Amino acid sequence: MGAITLENIVKSFGAVEVIRDVSLDIPEGELVVFVGPSGCGKSTLLRLISGLDQPTSGHILIDGKDVTRVSAADRGLAMVFQSYALYPHMSVRQNMAFGLENTRMPKAEIASRIEEAARMLEIGPLLDRRPGQLSGGQRQRVAIGRAIVREPTAFLLDEPLSNLDAELRGTMRAELAALHGRLGKTMIYVTHDQIEAMTMADRIVVLRAGVVEQVDTPLNLFNKPANRFVAGFIGAPR
Ligand code: ADP
Ligand code: MG
Repeated sequence: MGAITLENIVKSFGAVEVIRDVSLDIPEGELVVFVGPSGCGKSTLLRLISGLDQPTSGHILIDGKDVTRVSAADRGLAMVFQSYALYPHMSVRQNMAFGLENTRMPKAEIASRIEEAARMLEIGPLLDRRPGQLSGGQRQRVAIGRAIVREPTAFLLDEPLSNLDAELRGTMRAELAALHGRLGKTMIYVTHDQIEAMTMADRIVVLRAGVVEQVDTPLNLFNKPANRFVAGFIGAPR
């Protein structure tokens, strides 16, 4: 579960084509990093996969099923944003439960999922606080916890660490990679940070101006970049 396929995805805003014929195969359980400079279309591509936005043309498949016209809620994916997107007036527990209460899931099941995710992310003592009483790193853990309790078939993370300071970013990077190992779920991780991409990814998708320049393992990208752009982007931290 959690294989994601993109077939000839194009996305235009008005006359501007920001995603240009992107095709990709993401196998179940892989941690794939989309990397590329600001404005190259990473967030747009993630929003198309999540169902928050519709492609102009092309198809999106999850586990072989065409979900291009399926709503975000019914795709079984969970998204984590750079801005955390927590509800300020709700407790951590309520934030994590949000959306699940309207399903047929028993309250006890919701509670136990929250407890388990909180233990995994070491935010148990924070469950009754509000987001305003948390540090940036704690808020991002809550946002990740909210994704985990949904037990999605895949996680989509859009620059989840870029609001954190460098030291915490390093810690969280390692924790997210460990979490991926533990959950074994497909993860698409978007970043403009080459180091993050190189250290976390099973495979890296290098994007430039809405085009996939290369898809490969970090080692192969480093050793055999397809062109000067990839070589410059991966080789030289800016
Ligand atoms: P990235 O996440 O890689 O920084 P984005 O996917 O946010 O890039 O944006 C890709 C391009 O699409 C940018 O040129 C951006 O200005 C444009 N874009 C994104 N969303 C919209 C929108 N809703 N309307 C018009 N242009 C958009
Ligand atoms: Mg973005």
